This record gives sequence, structure tokens and C-alpha cells, in this order.
Amino acid sequence: MPTLPGILRTTAHTYPDRPALTFEGRTTTYRELDSRVDRLAAELASRGLRPGDRLVVLSGNSDSFGVGVYGGLRASAIVAPVNPKSAAAEVEHFITDTGANILLVGPECADAVAAWIAAHPETAATTTVLSLGPAGDLEDVLAAADARPDNEFTLEIREDDDALIIYTSGTTGKPKGALFDHHRVIWVGVNAGIAFGLRLHDRILQVAPLYHSAALNLLFFPGVMIGAHQVIHSAFHPVTTVDAIQEHRIQVFFGVPTMYAFMLRVPDLADRDLSSLRIAFYGAAPMPGSMAEKLFAAFPDTEINQACGQTEGGPGGIILTHEDVKRKPTTSGRFPIPNTEIRVVDANGDDVAPGEVGEMIMRGETMMKGYWNRPDATAQTVVDGWVHTGDLTHVDDEGFMTIVDRLKDMIITGGKNVYSAEVENALAAYPEIADLAIISRPHEEFGETVVAVVTPAEGGNPTLEGLREFAAPLLSEYKIPRELLINEIPRNPSGKIQKHKLRETISA
Ligand code: ATP
Ligand code: MG
Repeated sequence: MPTLPGILRTTAHTYPDRPALTFEGRTTTYRELDSRVDRLAAELASRGLRPGDRLVVLSGNSDSFGVGVYGGLRASAIVAPVNPKSAAAEVEHFITDTGANILLVGPECADAVAAWIAAHPETAATTTVLSLGPAGDLEDVLAAADARPDNEFTLEIREDDDALIIYTSGTTGKPKGALFDHHRVIWVGVNAGIAFGLRLHDRILQVAPLYHSAALNLLFFPGVMIGAHQVIHSAFHPVTTVDAIQEHRIQVFFGVPTMYAFMLRVPDLADRDLSSLRIAFYGAAPMPGSMAEKLFAAFPDTEINQACGQTEGGPGGIILTHEDVKRKPTTSGRFPIPNTEIRVVDANGDDVAPGEVGEMIMRGETMMKGYWNRPDATAQTVVDGWVHTGDLTHVDDEGFMTIVDRLKDMIITGGKNVYSAEVENALAAYPEIADLAIISRPHEEFGETVVAVVTPAEGGNPTLEGLREFAAPLLSEYKIPRELLINEIPRNPSGKIQKHKLRETISA
């Protein structure tokens, strides 16, 4: 039965000398990676980690992130990679929510951990904190591994053992941990490999955050399955990204639309040789139509695909193939990722008619087992094996699906549905503003009213009258905001607006 660390072992036996990871000029072969993972697993076991214990990895993108995740898995722990930019209270949430007894820390997170220890000494006292990376606690252990490649550490692990807790982005509330066994994560890799066309020994550039399910499950684990060479960057910078594609002859790249927007602005982009790039896919947010055209021109040799999914799905979800991106780049997807079923249903669970808005639900091998520690939320989200995504979607006559809003963000005013994303898209070009979010305020007569929260552009003077005038030719009257507030727009690291925080602000 395949397991994630078992697959690493097989790859290392098959291609011991092939490069596995390159980070900051240092390349680790598959033999070295496998051996480092063995050393770390043995060390964790010697420090009291038992099968099924939780281990949190708080680390930015690096080669030691990979060693940490696989080391925990090989020691038969349930590994929870979390956002390396977490503040002390968030670290506390991840440790207490998972009940982890070991925390592996990347060097760039040392300050956050020090702040967490100071603020939460009781939890910290029961957690073993080990720092990864150069000059970390584990440096000697891991360095010794390179010299002793034959000493394999093996525990009996089953395909249906729990493997990962992956946190959602926390756009609609506190991040929830989605639980996956090895079987589910392996299926994500198989599905992604088929959908995006990964090939044996591909060279992959990893720039998006690896702790998030998109980069981790759609690309990092499948990369190990195919003996890929993964070049890892700790942070996104448009010029170094383009440099790396050229220098390493990168074949596969994943990024969010904003990353592509910045890459398109690299001044000498047209003079670069980026012909090695076979596949570029994007996700997490839709691509503006005008940007897609520019991408096709800048990357004429590249297949550009879109993935739209949810952490709860593994991620599973819907995709746009290259041909479909060419036709309707601003839609969210046309077909389910392979081996996955998708439906769009009304509140009774019946399929909606084409063109009508309903909730997207999905089913397949990759769906989470449930939320960690949250039976209430699991019962609401997973119904008869179908994961309810909370995404309101409509399907056009050719099957293209578009997410119009989150169920939680939809506004009902005077009995009519207003999709906040639609209003935001229409009003984004109002010249007085730099950013906006559409939310609701409870109202006695209408149930809810539409509220625009805006941050002014430099020198801009946004007013309700001005905004309403701008909106009049674009939106039906009932969708136009009746209130305008000036405030910062809180966003999470993937750029999504945290409307629950804004609603708290306006009700305060
Ligand atoms: P939380 O569930 O904690 O509120 P979240 O839903 O943002 O946070 P993720 O699982 O990281 O956490 O994100 C999944 C959501 O992101 C989807 O439900 C969808 O709303 C949005 N999304 C993902 N990909 C795309 C895409 N390609 N286009 C549009 N929206 C997308
Ligand atoms: Mg979600």
C-alpha cells in the first residue's frame, strides 16, 4: 500500500542521484533527501514522538521544510504545516487545536516562536521546539545523514493512516484543519498529474507557499512521485522567478494571478528565453481577462491552465484547460479535476437549472476525512460524502462555471440576492478608491443592506453619492451600496478579503 514516505523511498531507490530539491544554491539528491528524512524521523522518535502524534511545521519555503514534513510523516506523525507568518496567537491556535507535542521551526520563524513562548508559556512548556535549517538544533543530525545513506528508518504505516492536517486560509473565520490520510493525498497527486500533464523528472519551480494545500498537494508531493527536481524559492520576487525559469530550464510553475501580473511587468521579459516552461497554472483567484491575453503573448510555448479548488477537497475542484483559458479566462473552471464529481445545487440539495446560482458540491477520493477536532463543522460540510464548498456558482450553456460569491458573503436585501463579488468587480474601477469590499449590514425593513467599505486612492475623495453615480449604469438599483465606509480592507496571505473581520468592524 503506497504511503507518502514510502513513495519517497521508492523514488530514492530508483533515482538516487537525481536532484530532488534546490534551495539557495544547495541541491539535495533523492538519496540525500531520503536519508535526511530517515535521520529526522529517528530523532523525532527518540524525542518521544509516537505514531498518530501531531507535529506542526512552521516554516517558510525551503529544502528543510520538505525534510521536516517528510520526517514527521516517516515517523508516522500527523503533520500540520502552518503559515510561517503566523503571529503568537495564531501559533497558539495551531498548537492547541492540533494538540501537537513537537513544533519544527524554520529559521525565519524564530522571532514568531519566541513571541509565542513569551505569550503562552504553559503550552510552550509541553511542546518540544526544534529549529530546522542551517545553525538549527537538527543541523548535526541532518548533516550526519548525508554520510550514512544506508541506515533506513522504517515504521509500519498504512495507506489509511492519518497523514496531514492542512489549514484553510481563514477567509471566513478562523482557519480550520482539514484531515487527510495518505490515500487521499496520493490521489490528489494522481489527479493533478493527469489534469496538468506532469511528466517524469519535470523541473518544477516552487514559489507559492508550500504550507498551503495548492502548492503542497497539487505539486510538491506529486513532484516526489515523478522524481522531479524542485527548485524552491523562499519568497516571490518577479525578477528572480523569471531568472529561475530561464536558468534552471523550469518546465512547471504554479502561481496566483497576482504573481503573473508582476511577472508580466519584468522589463526585459520579451528578451528572456522562457521556452522550457511547458505548464503554468494558476488558482486561488480568477484571472482578469486582459491579463490572460498578455500571458499568452509572453509565454507562447506554455500551456496555461487554471485550478479552482478548496482545501477541503484535497484540493479538488474544477479546472480550465489551456483551450478553455483561451476562451473564457475569467471563469472558474469547466470540468472537474479527474476522478472527481461536481454538482451545483440549491438549498434542498437539488441540481439547479443551467444559468441559475447554486452551491458547488464535490465528491471523490481526495476529499478530507473531516475537519480536525470540529465534528460540528464537519457535519455541516460533508453530507453523504459530498463536500459542500460554500461557493456559489453558476454554469453557462457550455459548462463553464463561475464562482459568484461565498454563501456566507451573499447579501439578501428586500428578498433579492446580491453577490458581493459581482458588485466588487463592477465598482473596482471607481477612480477615487484603491481597494474595496462589499458587505452587508442588518436592516429592519430590508433584512440586509449593501455596504461598500473602501480605502481611498492617493488624493482620492470617495463619497457615497459619487460611488452610486458611478454604479448606476453598471448595476441594478438594489445591488448598489446604500452606505460607504472608509476603512482598511483586511486580507489574508493569499489576498482574499476577510469579510468576517469587516462585519465585526462595522457592527462595533
Ligand atoms: P476558509 O475556508 O478558512 O474561510 P478559504 O475558503 O479562503 O478560507 P482555501 O481552502 O484556501 O480557504 O480557499 C478555497 C476558496 O478559494 C474556494 O472556496 C474559493 O472561494 C476560492 N478559490 C480558489 N480557487 C479559486 C479560483 N481559481 N477562482 C476563484 N476562486 C477561487
Ligand atoms: Mg473555505
